[in-house]
Amino acid sequence: MIKKPTSGYPDFIDAELLGRLAGETREDPVRIREALARSLAKEPLTLEETAALLAAGSGDLEEEIFAAARRLKREVYGNRIVIFAPLYIGNLCVNDCVYCAFRRSQEDTFRQTLSEEEIRRQVEALEDAGHKRLILVFGEHPEYSPEFIARTVRNVYSVKKGWGAIRRVNINAAPLDHDGFRTVKEAGIGTYQIFQETYHRPAYRKAHPERTRKADYLWRLHGLTRAGEAGCDDVGIGALFGLYDWKFEVLGLVAHARFLADRFGCGPHTISFPRLRPAQGFTPDPDCLVSDREFKKLVAVLRLAVPYTGLILTAREPAGIRREVMEFGVSQIDAGTRIELAGYTRKGPQDLKREQFEIGDCRSLDEIVRELLETGYIPSFCTACYRRGRTGVQFMEYAVPGFIRDFCTPNALLTLAEYLEDYASEETRRAGWRAVEREAVSLEDTRFNERLTRVRSGGERDLHV
Ligand code: SAM
Ligand code: SF4
Repeated sequence: MIKKPTSGYPDFIDAELLGRLAGETREDPVRIREALARSLAKEPLTLEETAALLAAGSGDLEEEIFAAARRLKREVYGNRIVIFAPLYIGNLCVNDCVYCAFRRSQEDTFRQTLSEEEIRRQVEALEDAGHKRLILVFGEHPEYSPEFIARTVRNVYSVKKGWGAIRRVNINAAPLDHDGFRTVKEAGIGTYQIFQETYHRPAYRKAHPERTRKADYLWRLHGLTRAGEAGCDDVGIGALFGLYDWKFEVLGLVAHARFLADRFGCGPHTISFPRLRPAQGFTPDPDCLVSDREFKKLVAVLRLAVPYTGLILTAREPAGIRREVMEFGVSQIDAGTRIELAGYTRKGPQDLKREQFEIGDCRSLDEIVRELLETGYIPSFCTACYRRGRTGVQFMEYAVPGFIRDFCTPNALLTLAEYLEDYASEETRRAGWRAVEREAVSLEDTRFNERLTRVRSGGERDLHV
């Protein structure tokens, strides 16, 4: 991984502006309602409009924000929740990020890079549970070259057990150069995720010691610009909440999304908003932590600010918070998550020495699918858009009213039907078929009904519209 200079790439984070907007405390009902109206018309919000929502302090206006976020989520994403699982490939790391158990100075951490055979075993275990979408996670290390990542992706796609197959492999790894992104793109990756961690430069410097690769703020900030230039048109941004003022980070994410949208004609595919968790040798500073109330609000404001960007809520959060926050705009969650190396074939409780941080929701995939069904959601394992080339600008063309009804809901139901037939417990299966039948009535789509019968009675798989 040879670093190329980042000159020629603008620093689109105007810290002075973001700081001023984040510090805005005057609640302005007129501006808030104007911003909500634009958002409900599915217009992305400006930084100023986002700041107006963040400044809402009175209970009533906050409730209006939550109600609008709930409505927008329903209109753009329906009641589907896309499910994935993370798979940690290796935790060697040359960086020293203060919050991460994989940092090089953390000597107690058990280090491992899964061999090809070990990866196959993990993928088989994930397929046995019913997963179809994975995100592969890597530390930053010369061993994890683009060629290594690409080989790993091909290895994962090649594992087929029973009906099992991984149909979409996303990546969370260090920023690459243009050639590196081309190499991983050729392996058929879905989304490439890079979290900026914090958009605030002094906080960034504090968390990422000098003379480490990750200390280069701009190299990271433009990681996904290079990805886009190299043809990866499906990227995910994120901030690690708890390193700096949460309102500043929300504005940083919105600025980043707007920059990518201006540059490439379409913004990021997803935004992640992990909150800091305890990790081996690291206890988050309670003064910096984002409260549950603030967390709920930041999810709602993000939903409203970027109507067509997927929001990812991970198992870092405990089940109760996941349940509560989901309705404000989350479109993807992980489930059945194990983040210790080789964790999907290990029994027993979490082992902090083997994992990057402590997770909050350890429930199985089946339990989470059942809860989603019982609370009115449709768990989806769909991967159709990316496999049919509906990504990037193409995706934006489809992401208009009607798209959900025509594509997402039928495909969600077809993949859910596969899960129910092949992997679900009896109880989940019953709840699932009740939901599929209920939704099918409102679809009245003959193509869908014909495919559903082929899945349920004909034993066919991987059908989509
Ligand atoms: N090494 C790659 C990098 O830094 O980009 C991969 C990232 S890491 C394996 C995935 C993400 O986990 C990080 O970007 C960071 O946001 C998050 N993370 C690290 N430590 C964490 C902690 N203690 N609590 C919550 N999230 C954490
Ligand atoms: Fe390494 Fe990523 Fe952890 Fe930083 S966050 S120490 S780069 S694995």
